[in-house]
Amino acid sequence: MTFSFDDLPRPQPDEIQNISWSVFRNLRSCPKQVAFSNDDQLKRFGQSVYSLIGNLAHDFRESAGDRFPLGKIDAEQLWDEVAENEVRNAITRSFAGSPPPEPSSWPNYSQTRQRSIDLAVVEPSDRDATFDSGTPVKVEFEKWIAPRCIPVVARLDLLITTDDVAKIGELKAGKRDEEHVDQVLFYSAVLEAESGNWPSRLWIEYMSDKSKIPVRLDKEKASMLLSDALEARQEFNADSKSGEPVAADPSPSNCKYCPYKPICSAYHLSGIVAESRYDESVVVVIKTKGNSTSSVVDVVAGDRFKTDHVMIYPPELDEFLEVGSTYAVGNTIGSDGEVIELKWNSLVWHLT
Ligand code: SF4
Repeated sequence: MTFSFDDLPRPQPDEIQNISWSVFRNLRSCPKQVAFSNDDQLKRFGQSVYSLIGNLAHDFRESAGDRFPLGKIDAEQLWDEVAENEVRNAITRSFAGSPPPEPSSWPNYSQTRQRSIDLAVVEPSDRDATFDSGTPVKVEFEKWIAPRCIPVVARLDLLITTDDVAKIGELKAGKRDEEHVDQVLFYSAVLEAESGNWPSRLWIEYMSDKSKIPVRLDKEKASMLLSDALEARQEFNADSKSGEPVAADPSPSNCKYCPYKPICSAYHLSGIVAESRYDESVVVVIKTKGNSTSSVVDVVAGDRFKTDHVMIYPPELDEFLEVGSTYAVGNTIGSDGEVIELKWNSLVWHLT
């Protein structure tokens, strides 16, 4: 059978209701990624080991915030419960019910665990000595704010407030990135839009090395980031309404963590090659099926064009794969160019 790039789906996105920082950031790098993620027909499971540790840290802080203040033993127990839950959720989201790697092997796991527990047991007054001792302090983790006057939403990792002062902390499990400063400034502008007051202090905490980096409150830049986000939302919504194809901007950095690579014609046509054998995206046609865990396939698009490849997959997928049909698969392992292996977080789309 012949494969054409027209066989790959063209996203038909819904409009963006309220723009968040992550959607704005993705719009700045590649609007087509946002279009894919806003198309309900195309929503597929997608997770990486990096998103698992990030989700775990967020979920723990949310639960710890509900139970604040917590003793150290209770906090450790809570962390382990939330980690078990994260594994269960990952299995549910996995297309084949396959378990993720052990949590202890997730990136920065032990530092993130330790730092999260330390944060959860610290008394609010110790968090920030600048608060007046007599003033009631409210500590909120994972706080959603959505000003009524503009279509924007923000989830703050840590918001500390008294009657008249607010402070925003952004907690990061991964490595440092200049963009984190813009993120916190964006949050400060959203908070100002909601409450009418700018926060008095901003900072970013990196769990891996326990550093706490203060961020200067640049109100002009913060306001500009917010208005750029609102403008980007408006442009995206106008484009999706017009039915015109949404712009794509393929590049190694934009596409590296994009879960839509396997079904993205712009990615395949760009000729970008996956950096590692753990991250391949190919379109395959099933030629013949072997036992319940392998098939012979032709690779018709992607990092390697090749006939008679062996594709290995979990047995749960056997019923789903049909001889003669075309599938886009991503997050696969390619071993020396001879075998394609689907793993716990691989992506699979049935195309034709
Ligand atoms: S694969 Fe690359 S070009 Fe395609 S949607 Fe994702 S980021 Fe954009």
